[in-house]
This record gives sequence, C-alpha cells and structure tokens, in this order.
Amino acid sequence: MNQVDYLRISLIDRCNFRCQYCMPEGAELDYILKQNLLTDEELLTLIQDVFIPVGFTRFRLTGGEPLLRPCVVELVRAIASFEETQDLSMTTNGFLLAPMAQSLYNAGLRRINISLDSLEPDIFNQIIGNRGRSRWQDVWNGIQAAYSVGFDPLKLNVVVIPDVNDHEVLDLAALTIDKQWHVRFIEFMPIGNAELFGDRGWISSAELRQSIRTRWGLTEAQVRGSGPADVFQIPGAKGTLGFISQMSECFCDRCNRMRLSADGWLRPCLLNETGQIDLKTALRTGVSTAELRQQVRELLAMKPEINFKLRDSGTTGMYTRTMSQIGG
Ligand code: SAM
Ligand code: SF4
Repeated sequence: MNQVDYLRISLIDRCNFRCQYCMPEGAELDYILKQNLLTDEELLTLIQDVFIPVGFTRFRLTGGEPLLRPCVVELVRAIASFEETQDLSMTTNGFLLAPMAQSLYNAGLRRINISLDSLEPDIFNQIIGNRGRSRWQDVWNGIQAAYSVGFDPLKLNVVVIPDVNDHEVLDLAALTIDKQWHVRFIEFMPIGNAELFGDRGWISSAELRQSIRTRWGLTEAQVRGSGPADVFQIPGAKGTLGFISQMSECFCDRCNRMRLSADGWLRPCLLNETGQIDLKTALRTGVSTAELRQQVRELLAMKPEINFKLRDSGTTGMYTRTMSQIGG
C-alpha cells in the first residue's frame, strides 16, 4: 500500500484571479466565512499534534491563492520549523510573489510551483478573467524573483486548453532549454467550468509530448518532488518537462496525498469526499487531538477504496467543488 505522507493545505479559498477553468467569472461560489477559516493556531495544532504524529512529513500550501492569506510568511516559518517537516512547498499564481519571494525563502520555503498558462499577456489576461492592466508582467516578475532567490526546483504549471493556449505549448516547453525551470503540463479536468470543458474538451499529455518530441526529441528525466508527473527533458535542456495526466492515465493507485481545506475538512481524495472529517468543528468542540489522530488513521486505512478513478468515471461529469475550493 502507498504510504500517504503528503498533505495539501488550502490556506484560503479566495483568489485574486478568476481563471476560466477554475473559478470563472459569474460562477456563484460560496466563499468560506472568515470565522470558519482555520486560524493559524488551529492549523499549526493540527499539523503538529495530528498530522505529523500519524506520519505526514510533506506539506504543500495552496488555495485559492495562498499568498492572500494574512501572515503567510509566519505560517511558512512555523511549519518549516517542525523537526519532522521534510518538505514544504507552495502552489501560487505568482501575482503577489515578487516582493514576497525572499521572505518566503528566508522563512524556510524551498520549492514553489507557479501557474503560467500563457506567454502572451492578452491571452493570459483572458484566461485569468482580468479586464484591466495585464497581470502577466507581475507574474513573470514573480517567477524571475523566485528564480533569483534560489527556489529549487521552480516549477511552472500550465493547464492546456484547446483553442485557448494549446498553440503555445512549444514556446512554453522552450523555457526549459536555457533555464533550470520545470514546466508541467496539466490535463484540463472537468472541475470548475463545465461549459468550457464541454466546449473545448482536453488535450492528452501523449499528444503534447508528441509535438514536443517532433520538434526537439525527448528523453526521460527526473526532478525532485515530481509527484504524479511523468518527467522528460529536451536533450541538452537545463530544465525538465512534466506531464500530469490525470485524465488519460489514472494514477489514483499510487496516490500519496490528502487535502485539508481552508475550513478544516480533511479529504482523502480530490474528487471523492467519502469519509471526510470536519477537523475544525472537532477542535472547536473540544475533541482531543488523540481522538483526531485515531480518526485520521482510520481514514488513511480507508483511502485506497475511496480513491476516485477519474478515467473510469467517464469524463463528462462535473464535480461540485472547484479546485480553488478543494485546495488544488
Ligand atoms: N492559485 C494557485 C495557482 O493557481 O497556482 C493555487 C491553487 S490552484 C487551484 C492549483 C492548481 O490547480 C493550478 O495549477 C491550476 O492550474 C490547477 N487547476 C485549477 N482548475 C483546474 C482544472 N479544471 N483542471 C486542471 N487543473 C486545474
Ligand atoms: Fe485562482 Fe489558482 Fe483558481 Fe486561477 S487556478 S482562479 S489562480 S485558485
């Protein structure tokens, strides 16, 4: 059985972007009320007294947009300081990153994934649902800042959507040639925007790989913390290319993670809420951390049966929560 030791922690469900594929403009989202967010203290108690003792050692901070969480640098410092923390990373849209990169690094964050779906500012703006000044440059500055501060590996996440940004796949892949950046192509999932998914569908990793292979050739490679990605490299490139193929190649059988939502729900699977535990209410009603450890252990034991097989389920259904709500 897979050792489940990796927890994705959503720090907040809100976001300063409205990506078409995640939380499209006009979508009615029930945001978590402030009083229902786990406080910093509750989150740290759960990590230290529940998750670490049951075997979690690797943590990723995500959201929503994690950099919108007040005191995020202090949270990073606290989580990094636990002796048992072996790995602490973050997934961000990068918009607020440039001025924060150094403090996050100093606080102990070492790995970062930044979403970058386009190199063309107008297309980028369209994807993130922004009608004002393009935010592309701010994100690009965030990526450059993270690179110069020394985040390693530095990964760029790209969700490829037919007729939106698929024409940029080679340009995005080319970023890995001169820089030690790791570009990861993620298959578009039927979560968040049913209409867009129904209209455009998704492109398989195999198809993307084929077009990159035809242009430069591809060899297999490795990168630290590659998770479910299949990793390749353009021959001679400094960085790598990852392909996350949850639609075409179900990897549920090797899933090693659970998710904690910003309001304290522990979910064993991205798409299946069976067995989820409301840890916030438990803490606030005085349930002991010893009892919570027991509940989490029981959920861990059930996880292999809970893991959702996206491919087997068919790809036309949509899921009720968006990635920003689940903690993608
Ligand atoms: N706001 C941060 C960001 O965008 O990087 C972190 C949260 S976001 C929900 C985490 C990841 O989920 C991003 O890389 C995003 O591209 C991905 N994502 C969101 N909706 C998706 C979908 N429908 N299909 C595939 N990936 C999706
Ligand atoms: Fe925000 Fe990330 Fe979702 Fe885009 S993908 S709307 S940046 S949470």
